[in-house]
Amino acid sequence: MAAVTEFFGCNVFNETVMQARLPKSIFKSLKKTMAEGTELQPEVAEVVASAMKDWAVEKGATHYTHWFQPMTGITAEKHDAFIAPGVDGKIILEFSGKELIKGEPDASSFPSGGLRATFEARGYTTWDPTSYAFVKDGSLYIPTAFCSYGGEVLDKKTPLLRSMETINVQALRILKLFGRSVTRVTTTVGAEQEYFLINKEMYKKRKDLLLTGRTLFGAKPAKGQELDDHYFGNLKQKVSDYMKDLDTELWKLGILSKTKHNEVAPAQHELAPIFGTTNIATDHNQLTMELMKKIADKHGLVCLLHEKPFAGVNGSGKHNNWSISTNTGENLLEPGKSPKDNKQFLLFLSAIIKAVDDYADLLRVSVASAGNDHRLGANEAPPAIVSMFLGDELTHILEAIEKGETALATVKAFLETGVAALPKLRKDTTDRNRTSPFAFTGNKFEFRMLGSAVSIAGANIVLNTAITEVLQGFADRLEKADDFEKEVLEIVKETMKKHKRIIFNGNNYSEEWVAEASRRGLNNLKTSVEALPTFAAEKNITLFEKHGIFSKTEVISRCEIMLEGYAKAINIEALTMLEMAKKEILPAVLKYNKEVFKTLKVKQELALNISLEKEQAYAIKLSNLTESLMSKIDDLDNILLETKNYEDVEDLAKFFREYVFGAMQTLRVVADELETIVSAANWPFPTYVDLLFYV
Ligand code: ADP
Ligand code: MG
Repeated sequence: MAAVTEFFGCNVFNETVMQARLPKSIFKSLKKTMAEGTELQPEVAEVVASAMKDWAVEKGATHYTHWFQPMTGITAEKHDAFIAPGVDGKIILEFSGKELIKGEPDASSFPSGGLRATFEARGYTTWDPTSYAFVKDGSLYIPTAFCSYGGEVLDKKTPLLRSMETINVQALRILKLFGRSVTRVTTTVGAEQEYFLINKEMYKKRKDLLLTGRTLFGAKPAKGQELDDHYFGNLKQKVSDYMKDLDTELWKLGILSKTKHNEVAPAQHELAPIFGTTNIATDHNQLTMELMKKIADKHGLVCLLHEKPFAGVNGSGKHNNWSISTNTGENLLEPGKSPKDNKQFLLFLSAIIKAVDDYADLLRVSVASAGNDHRLGANEAPPAIVSMFLGDELTHILEAIEKGETALATVKAFLETGVAALPKLRKDTTDRNRTSPFAFTGNKFEFRMLGSAVSIAGANIVLNTAITEVLQGFADRLEKADDFEKEVLEIVKETMKKHKRIIFNGNNYSEEWVAEASRRGLNNLKTSVEALPTFAAEKNITLFEKHGIFSKTEVISRCEIMLEGYAKAINIEALTMLEMAKKEILPAVLKYNKEVFKTLKVKQELALNISLEKEQAYAIKLSNLTESLMSKIDDLDNILLETKNYEDVEDLAKFFREYVFGAMQTLRVVADELETIVSAANWPFPTYVDLLFYV
């Protein structure tokens, strides 16, 4: 096999390809667009399109597609062939600048929250030249943004790009005041991705996995994750082969897949890339999730990206590592050797502290989903309470500034390994706090509340916009200040006074924290239905409108889409449960009843001098559970009928959470108990052991 350095990015229309294939002036102007977000001229687009087509055709492409990210949270694509009729019944291959820049997919069937009535189906996709085009499965993929005829945003990409633009403007104002000659600031993201791999044949026998991505039934297996023997454990051959294949395909697409390892739960794994510019990291995370699934299929496996595929073992999350850096290569969250004297760092840090406290509700919304509800606060992921971990050193510095004292110079400790031959390792400025939802990890923040299936766009739109808002306020003050240095310190001091409640360095999984957070007045929006409506709170609408991210109508419609999505997800789960319970579990259980009662009857008829006490009790228990199963099925059926009474989407979502979800849980309890007593031969689908231990 060729060396990685040879094939890395071979399917990407990247700068090397551009430089080789585009006239100098065109390349220069395209590069300017990519670096500074300037508008792309039609003449330039024409030449670029033609070069792109030639390159893609050489790579075996026959089609092109505008690849976009509608509000479904996954990507969408519609493919058009390059062909056009030529002379003598032949064809020619065409791809114009116009086709590169703008596409018009039928937008009617994407969720829009009433923004675009179905009869007005027009939606446009426009090329995002800052994200490279690539070839995959015989098509040239053009990363695009998606909006309606009237200009309303219909996707996750457009607001993300807007939020990156607006944070750039405000951060530059601040940097200018610090005397820096920087012309562009970008946010960077590295998204660590967790996933499960299971056997495809087993998967096919489970309707719940097929339709909802998670198991809706399943008794606890004899072995779960209690031995901690899977985390960082050596890789099974099948898994290792899969990961190798996955890395190769990701590298070909220019995705910097870096780390792979086994995770805590059996059959659970993680992939982490090297970070990149936020919009590209977002595209790459979407592609990574897609390839994870496709490549699993080739290996006789299925990749589960659901946040909670199995009850009783850890679910999967996604860590959004976030920072902000300049086009001069400086990471603005790098504290440097002496953080206490690094006023620029302390100011940006303060901006993030205030932003996270002021918009904690929005951050919570950005990670809300039916799937993620199973994880947050369940001792496997951070609680639903947003707080920040800064570590002792930074907290000490900020507290000293708040009190007007001088912070002690910090002595960096060395890690004592106890083995003289090992090199001395410098301790990180911050120790790891794995329980914090939003942790400072040395030179970036790690937002850890995201679920594994979610697009990272939402979280980053919120982060960028909230921080923009604060930076703008700071810049307004600082530009007017007589004594700049003094004003910076004053801002840091005020931020600490008002917002230190958001800082928590302790154990976020503890009961005490829940109580303490409530005393501090921090929100604990436990479920998606509690969290989602806050998206459209007045202060949040103001925020988005002020920075040109969403209009009020767009915020309200997005809120509706999310609530509707939640209700639909639970509805599909409930219907799937009913189907499995009625058509698979109940018939199997009745069949087993027959066997047990038949045996009992035979023995009773023989009237031998044997005890049938236990056997009778067993039969009775089985029968009672069967009866109970039937009644729980009825309950769920009836509750689902009641959902028809709700018009308002928020009320409907609430009803699903409060009643449908509860009825699903009680049905599951009975079915899972039956699984533990019904013979294995009679159980209708693979069990947790089959699913978790047979890769
Ligand atoms: P963890 O200890 O949480 O498992 P990893 O080392 O696996 O951490 O992942 C850390 C992630 O943070 C990687 O994706 C890495 O590229 C990313 N990262 C590092 N520096 C930055 C930065 N400046 N901005 C954004 N992400 C970053
Ligand atoms: Mg992490």
